[in-house]
Amino acid sequence: MGFRATDGPHVRMFKKRVTLSLPPMVYDLIIIGGGPAGLTAGVYARTRKLSTLILEAQAIGGQLEWLYPTKSVYDYPSYIAIEGGELAQLFVLHSRESGAELRSEEVVDIERQPSGFRVRTREGNAFETRTILLAMGMGLFEPKRLDVPGETELEGRGVEYRVRDRHEFKDKRVIVVGGGDSALEIALEIFAAAKKVILVHRRGEFRAMEKNVEAVLKSPIEVRFDAEVTSIEGDGHVERAVVYDNRTLKKQVFDVDAVIVNIGFQPKITPLPKWGIELEGERLIKVKADMSTSVRGIYACGDIVSYPGKDKRIVTGCGEAVTAIMSVYKYLKQPYWA
Ligand code: NAP
Repeated sequence: MGFRATDGPHVRMFKKRVTLSLPPMVYDLIIIGGGPAGLTAGVYARTRKLSTLILEAQAIGGQLEWLYPTKSVYDYPSYIAIEGGELAQLFVLHSRESGAELRSEEVVDIERQPSGFRVRTREGNAFETRTILLAMGMGLFEPKRLDVPGETELEGRGVEYRVRDRHEFKDKRVIVVGGGDSALEIALEIFAAAKKVILVHRRGEFRAMEKNVEAVLKSPIEVRFDAEVTSIEGDGHVERAVVYDNRTLKKQVFDVDAVIVNIGFQPKITPLPKWGIELEGERLIKVKADMSTSVRGIYACGDIVSYPGKDKRIVTGCGEAVTAIMSVYKYLKQPYWA
């Protein structure tokens, strides 16, 4: 939409506004994944004025929003404690305010184009971009199941795999299964309001961070090591769980209102292999120190990447995002930055 000499100032301003609000034909950057790493990348990309689109398939805000919105996060610097959902919203707000465009769409394909890449979504859209940053976290995932009698029948009726709202467990007797950070943090999240929380772990020691282990051991949470839930029972809702000590084979039946299973997550089928990027195993992307992948123009950061010493934390994912954006910027500015 060009200006004509006869256009008055308002027409010019209108035309300018219309022009500015149109999406670019080819984005500088498409970020796939709208969790902390992807949203941080959005903020930093905008400091370099890169036209940036963020596509998120599950929940904008990522795991913080989808998995544990009412769980407190204690290891995000500058917040002594902040609920997952609130932190997620701050990430989203920051990214949006920076000028990144956010869309709830699931990427199903990436194709090479002369100008870079075409990204197709399940919603039927296609977006063109010069570079891509993969920040899909664990990808689309589902909780691992115990596969014990009663689990499937009582799912959603006392058998849970995530805590959407900790207040749901007020005055309830709850078994939490697992020995990783997720299980311990859930137990810590709900014990104050719950009537009783029993943490059942299959081994004699936890896998979780010492900080969480110490907090659990100091709390009124009852810990059952070397123990396994072998069946969950109830008439239309959880009423009991059978727990075996796997050393003595002693059986105990606990009257409970809920069993929260938190024994890790398994990713759903990933489209990564067909995009031709070098992987570590089936689901992690190999990156160099600058967060570049084996495909020129495609970068990655956050929980989906693999490199020696990689640790899955919100803060490290955000740090990797900054490195990735600097690399994207240099790539786009070649040969000046080469
Ligand atoms: P995880 O670390 O893989 O722990 C899964 C736990 O479930 C383990 O203790 C495992 O037992 C147990 N388990 C697995 N299969 C089981 C089965 N069939 N029956 C009974 N128990 C079973 O998973 P996560 O806790 O979800 O954590 C995933 C990653 O995210 C970790 O790297 C974790 O540190 C990280 N994370 C970080 C934070 C944070 O930074 N604040 C919070 C949450 C998670 P074994 O120990 O015997 O294998």
